[in-house]
Amino acid sequence: MSIVTEWEIRTRGQRVRSAQLREVDAAVLVWARMGQGQKDVNMQTVWTKFSAWKTAVPAEYGIIRAAADELENELARQWRNKPAQMAGVGASGVTPTGWRLVMYAGADLVAANQQVPPMTTAQISKINEAMRRVKLGVSSARDAMLRVAKRRQFAFPMPEEEAAFTDFFGPYDEDRLNRVVSNFQALVLAFNGTPTFTDVRNRQVWANTYGGCVRRNLVSRSGQAALGGGVAAKAAAVGQAVAAPKAQAAVSLTGNVDMLVGRAFIGSGSYAKTTDDTICTLVHEFAHGTINAVDVPDVDGNGVFQCTRQSDDPADPNFGNSTDPFGHQSSQEPMDIIMARHHPEYALVNADCYGQFTKRILIGKAE
Ligand SMILES: [Zn+2]
Repeated sequence: MSIVTEWEIRTRGQRVRSAQLREVDAAVLVWARMGQGQKDVNMQTVWTKFSAWKTAVPAEYGIIRAAADELENELARQWRNKPAQMAGVGASGVTPTGWRLVMYAGADLVAANQQVPPMTTAQISKINEAMRRVKLGVSSARDAMLRVAKRRQFAFPMPEEEAAFTDFFGPYDEDRLNRVVSNFQALVLAFNGTPTFTDVRNRQVWANTYGGCVRRNLVSRSGQAALGGGVAAKAAAVGQAVAAPKAQAAVSLTGNVDMLVGRAFIGSGSYAKTTDDTICTLVHEFAHGTINAVDVPDVDGNGVFQCTRQSDDPADPNFGNSTDPFGHQSSQEPMDIIMARHHPEYALVNADCYGQFTKRILIGKAE
């Protein structure tokens, strides 16, 4: 008995069917009649409709759960038998633009029946759109910082760029200002350098996370190479007093950023509502992966850190890094502002301050 026949028979008792469930029915019917379709598009449609229904109408799913889970498992099983992981992408002409999609190839995957299928064209389009906006955002942020560096109008009336700098990186300081300029120059290069997005939605440790970037320092300033570790990386680490990091200093990158994409990154719900947060989070993550930024602990209203830092020595690459990053990190706009006011030297190395600054500039800018 095929899965389709089972679906019909086993869900027949559900007489009142939501619009989403009827779309699943229709997709299953096409799949049954027409087969997999070119590049598995028919099966992929079933998956897409099924996922949308399961999310949108959980009560209905609960009623016919046994059959639904069986359909889901069957889809997952068939996906695993299809090495053509990019199914559907070529067919619709939607391909990653400005980034490279890599399937995680390790063995530490979640159980077979828990795995999700390859990214759909809709999901790839969503990342394309996020990349388009984040490139605009981060280059706007860099331009804003260049204006600040030239103008330095920190007295009243303070322009919005200077106000944003003050909010997220603290009161005016020439050295700190130059470092922020330089760091945004590096971030622009990182986003324009065809970063890799590694799909880790089925990898055990990452599956249910947003994803993120592993901390790395790719920046080379004024010809000083930033290696993976050791003295050179330490010398070029973000926020450090190396070789007069003027805003004019040449910035280059020594590699590409690798962004790990978990399930929460793809997420669900209203894209329009979350897109600004996506931009903020992408810049936050790329700050980890590009300029070796850290997650500084959260603070209370008086600016008191809520946990210890790995190091409080600004010359240490782990300066400011929270010792409990999952429980304690400053990753909300109001907290970043309080932190920058009380601990500007920590704001300089806090990944989230770069994300929030970009979001502020992007929202303030008419697209
Ligand atoms: Zn972080």
